[in-house]
Amino acid sequence: MARLASEERRELLERFRRWLREQRLPVTRQRDIVAETVFGSEEHLSVDAIARRLRERGMRVGIATIYRTLELLVGAGLVREHEFGEGFRRFEPAGRESDHEHLICVRCGRVVEFANERLERMLPVIADEHAFQHRRHRVEIFGTCRDCLQRELGGLTA
Ligand SMILES: [Zn+2]
Ligand SMILES: [Zn+2]
Repeated sequence: MARLASEERRELLERFRRWLREQRLPVTRQRDIVAETVFGSEEHLSVDAIARRLRERGMRVGIATIYRTLELLVGAGLVREHEFGEGFRRFEPAGRESDHEHLICVRCGRVVEFANERLERMLPVIADEHAFQHRRHRVEIFGTCRDCLQRELGGLTA
């Protein structure tokens, strides 16, 4: 996924601070740092990955604070949460451009995004066929990415 432009990141952070104040929750430097890390990422980060990034930048933020902040960000509708069947969650900024879905490599955990207008149009139609009023959806395709496939094929011919 593409990294958000700096003004978009600033705007999201501003919305997070505003939301915290509305909820009468403290706006703290640590919450800002966690939010900035997710908003500024080009990946779907796990809690561990966020903790690692913060450590690399020499910032001390406890795991509990990271979890709590992510919970708040999801609650504020600013971060989208994923469970890709790996036993842990991953996070990405919400409300970017249009809807996108995910391809997940079951070998290396790579996550690739795709957008398909036809698919997005079809899903509400399918819901309708089952007398469901469509609200939202997630499409996740699990498989093997090109690199892992090549590695496997390479292993076979070597
Ligand atoms: Zn892979
Ligand atoms: Zn995504």
